[in-house]
Amino acid sequence: MWIRVLGSAAGGGFPQWNCGCTNCAGVRAGTLRATPRTQECIALSADGKSWFLLNASPDIRVQLESFPPLQPQRTRHTPIEGILLTSGDLDHCLGLLSLRESQPLVVYATQTVRAGFVEENAFARTLQRFDGHTTWHRLEPGRVQALHSSQRGNSGLTVLPLLVEGKPPLHFLGFPTPGEEHTIGFIVSESSSGKSLAYFSSVAKITERLCALLDEVDLLFFDGTFWSEDELIQAGVDRKRSWELAHLPISGVNGSLRALERVRCPARVYIHVNNTNPILRDDSPERQIVTQAAWQVAVDGMEFRI
Ligand SMILES: [Zn+2]
Ligand SMILES: [Zn+2]
Repeated sequence: MWIRVLGSAAGGGFPQWNCGCTNCAGVRAGTLRATPRTQECIALSADGKSWFLLNASPDIRVQLESFPPLQPQRTRHTPIEGILLTSGDLDHCLGLLSLRESQPLVVYATQTVRAGFVEENAFARTLQRFDGHTTWHRLEPGRVQALHSSQRGNSGLTVLPLLVEGKPPLHFLGFPTPGEEHTIGFIVSESSSGKSLAYFSSVAKITERLCALLDEVDLLFFDGTFWSEDELIQAGVDRKRSWELAHLPISGVNGSLRALERVRCPARVYIHVNNTNPILRDDSPERQIVTQAAWQVAVDGMEFRI
């Protein structure tokens, strides 16, 4: 399986347009050892020809242009066979609206995420311009599904969606939400090799079941949004703690670094990194801690082959 990181930052990207925190100001000024990042999105493929995206970020246009295998092979064409959404947060699905130029799209999402996107949303009609414009496949947590290729039928990949503790998107606050399946993670497996990838970019709680599943995978992408629970407060940008935003921090007694210490997965990568997170600085003590614990920090353009 080919895996390409198209975007690695949390919502807002790095730097974020309205943020003057130490990281954002430093990366703009060129005074930090850090690399700008677009918002989280991954491309994967079993054969290098049919590609699937995990999430559709607001940066999708530049992300697709950054990777030739995702570009059209003829006048009107895309090698993107499907887009899988982890949640209805805008940093994960707003990019769908940028793909509105009359190209059939296939989107895999839970019933809750699909309803949240299409119901009472006039903008979503731009993806319904003709019969078959957008095909939604329902992801049912706990049920393995094949990912289809329009050319070959079988893409060679299956996905197991798993419900994780999360929260409704911010734009649903004070509004009835269409169901409970707000946040999922994926285990994507390649049938021919038996290799698999776990993708959990938003996780509020690590359960024993999750750890057991992660033991079996070859590559893990995990929620690297915040280093500490009070990171936004320390940075002076918000009053919310990480748990209020449904992200488990990396550090601390209950953090992911410690909780995933015993997981046997041979390659692990923090992704969806918020612009306030000190692990973005290549020479920070926090980066050193995650590196010493055998974690990598995702950066745009990173590739893996499993
Ligand atoms: Zn996000
Ligand atoms: Zn910032």
